[in-house]
Amino acid sequence: MKVIDIISGEKPSLSFEVFPPKISANFESVMQATVEIAKLNPSFMSVTYGAGGGTSKYTADIASKLLSMNVIPIAHLSCISSRREEIQSLLKDLKERGIKNILALRGDIPDGLNMNNLQYHYASELATEIRDFGGFCIGGACYPENHPESKDSKSDIDSLKIKVENGCEFLTTQMFFDNNILYNFMYRLYREGVNVPVVAGIMPVTNAKQIKRICSISQNTLPQRFLRLVDRYGDKPEAMKQAGIAYATEQIIDLFANGVNAVHVYSMNKPDVAAAIQNNISEIIR
Ligand code: FAD
Repeated sequence: MKVIDIISGEKPSLSFEVFPPKISANFESVMQATVEIAKLNPSFMSVTYGAGGGTSKYTADIASKLLSMNVIPIAHLSCISSRREEIQSLLKDLKERGIKNILALRGDIPDGLNMNNLQYHYASELATEIRDFGGFCIGGACYPENHPESKDSKSDIDSLKIKVENGCEFLTTQMFFDNNILYNFMYRLYREGVNVPVVAGIMPVTNAKQIKRICSISQNTLPQRFLRLVDRYGDKPEAMKQAGIAYATEQIIDLFANGVNAVHVYSMNKPDVAAAIQNNISEIIR
C-alpha cells in the first residue's frame, strides 16, 4: 500500500521511525526494536538511510522485515554521494522486495566530498529519477524552520515546490517543538500553492544527550516551556523520559485537534517510547 493513500484518508495516522545500525554487530538489536515497534501496528514505519557501506542494505532489510509483518514501510534514500548506477540498483532492489514508498533525500554533505563531480545536487533530482523509474510513492523532507542552508523561507519553499513538481506526493517535517511554527509553515505552503499532505514529525526528547544533539545540529526553536522541563528533569533519566513523552503527547493531541491528520514520531528505536505515546492517544487515533 502507498503511504499517500493512508495519509490522505479521514483517519488520523500515527507512524514511527527506526534507524539502521552503523555497525553489523548492532543489527540484531535494531531488528528486535523494529519488531517491537511494528507490533504496535502503526499506520506505517519509516527506515532511515545512512549513505554508503552496509547501512544502505540494512535499510532495505529492515523495510522488508516490516513488510513481512504487514506494516507498511517507507525506505529513506539519500543521493548526494551516490552515482546513478547505484541509485538505479537500489531502486531495483526495493522494487523487487515489494517496497512501495521512498522518502527521497539529498542527505547531509559529507566532509571532503568533491562537489565538482556530483551526479545529484538536490533531493528533487532524486525524486525525478524515482518517478521515472516508476512504481513508488515518493515523499520528501521539509523544514518548518527552514533548511539550515536556505537563505530565507521564500527560497526554502521554492525548493519544496520543485520537489513536489518532480514527484514528491507528500512531505515529512523536520522535528519542531512549538506547534505554531508548523501552523505558520503550513500557511506559507498553502499560500505558495504547495498542496501535498504534510506529515508532522515529532521527536519525544527523553534524555539529556538527545537535547544536546538537537541543539548542536538543528536550528530548532526551543520554547521556554520545553527548556524549563529540560532544566528540571534533564539529569533525572526516568523523570526526563516521562516528561518528554508527555510533552510530545501534548504536541500530537494539539496537532490532531487542529486538523493535522498525519503525525510521524521519531521513535529512535525505542519501543517503550513509541508504545507510551500510542497508548496516550489510543482513543484519539481509533
Ligand atoms: P534538499 O531538498 O535537496 O534541500 C537541501 C538544500 O538545498 C535546502 O536548503 C534547499 O532549499 C536547497 N535546494 C533544494 N533544491 C534546490 C534547487 N533546485 N536550487 C537551489 N537550492 C535548492 N538524512 C540522511 O542521511 N538519511 C535519512 O534517512 C534522513 N532522513 C530524513 C528525514 C526527514 C523527515 C528530514 C527532515 C531529514 C532527513 N535527513 C536524512 C536529513 C537530510 O538529508 C538533510 O537535512 C539534508 O541536509 C537535506 O536533505 P533534503 O532532502 O531536505 O535536501
